[in-house]
Amino acid sequence: MATSKTSKTTSISMSVFEHAMRQFDEAASRLNVDPGLLEFIKQPRRAMIVTLPIQRDDGEWAVYEGYRVQHSFTRGPAKGGVRFHPQVTLDEVMALSAWMTWKSAVVGIPFGGGKGGIACDPTSMSRRELECLTRRYTAEIMDIIGPEKDVPAPDVNTNPQVMAWMMDTYSMHARQTTTAIVTGKPLEIGGSRGRVEATGRGVMLTAREAAKHLGLDLNGATVAVQGFGNVGSVSAKLLAEQGCKVIAVSDVFGAIKNPAGLDVPALIDYAHDNGRVSGFPGAEEIPRDDVLFVECDILVPAALESVIDGDNAHRVRAKIIAEGANGPITPDGDAVLNERGIFIVPDILCNAGGVTVSYFEWVQDRIGYFWEEEEVNRRLETILVRAFGDVLEMSRLHDVNMRIAAFMLAIQRVLEVTTMRGVYS
Ligand code: NAD
Repeated sequence: MATSKTSKTTSISMSVFEHAMRQFDEAASRLNVDPGLLEFIKQPRRAMIVTLPIQRDDGEWAVYEGYRVQHSFTRGPAKGGVRFHPQVTLDEVMALSAWMTWKSAVVGIPFGGGKGGIACDPTSMSRRELECLTRRYTAEIMDIIGPEKDVPAPDVNTNPQVMAWMMDTYSMHARQTTTAIVTGKPLEIGGSRGRVEATGRGVMLTAREAAKHLGLDLNGATVAVQGFGNVGSVSAKLLAEQGCKVIAVSDVFGAIKNPAGLDVPALIDYAHDNGRVSGFPGAEEIPRDDVLFVECDILVPAALESVIDGDNAHRVRAKIIAEGANGPITPDGDAVLNERGIFIVPDILCNAGGVTVSYFEWVQDRIGYFWEEEEVNRRLETILVRAFGDVLEMSRLHDVNMRIAAFMLAIQRVLEVTTMRGVYS
């Protein structure tokens, strides 16, 4: 049963939302703009808390708490995933919604930022229970979502099936099939080719650009990946296809290592069949969190936020960190890694492949014509390579790291549109 929580602390003194706000402030302080306008674009526009009753399979009633936060509509409808996890809090969803605003702006797609979540443990729920919970959540947030208002998508522990239930629930209430209400749907009901792999593809592309920038040959480069879900497994697979050696991988249950390189496609099949990476033949078991501290060229954190902090950042032994997850490094961790000269591809650039192909899906749903996968991948690559170049240019111009540069670029783009539209008051 859900407990009501409104803040989640990443260290003794900082919640995830404070973490996101501190990143904003650090970048904003370098821009010569009105502090009042900055305050306006920094805060979420709207947050909704909903109470979700469902009858469990044993007949008992359970009540869960759900959230939808809309951080910005300035550049277009709010956009962002829905997370099902026991530790989901309003504070976390607020942070994730803000990161969506900056992410969409960095890649230049016409969306604002939004995020949703339900504090629940989907691993202990049946398919029927999950469907009931998803439908009730969708009905409760129905008034504030819509193809022109706010478009949800998958995130941790949600998938194309959950999106199909959301689309159907919305459509039943709207009395018309409305495919563009969510992205990350199955292909048969308006999904886009390439969406399932999009976030991992973006991680691969931006890590490739980072390697190019640093003069690191991807062929034979070693990679460690934390989290082996949608983002982690696809990142590992596509980096391996680029010639990288994936030497360590973890999931919530444990971690494995093989200095000679893991057979990633076989590991994906194994994890699918066994529900975990542990026990994969030929690999050595290591403590779960040690995956972050394996010596490698590229580290891809692709699980949850705040896993690298001020206390453990000195143990990281990677040349590049490609942030597949949202917010995997706290500001204190960031300071240590920057001091040590580790090149970080920030989340709002690195994992923006997902929202970019979500944008393609929304476009295809609205025009009713669907692209081939090569078309999707080609357009994705064009956008991400350009965004990487824009952020790198900003970092050179202002002599700042890639994270600050990405935030500066995003804030500038949101402010530009805010000023153009004018502030209604
Ligand atoms: P997922 O549910 O598909 O996978 C999450 C993975 O992380 C699972 O393998 C799980 O076992 C693992 N995990 C959880 N806790 C862990 C821990 N403590 N140590 C090691 N592994 C752990 O979720 P996903 O969609 O791959 O999302 C992962 C991250 O990427 C999240 O931060 C999410 O917000 C971000 N993200 C996802 C998308 C997307 O399109 N799915 C887009 C952008 C960003």
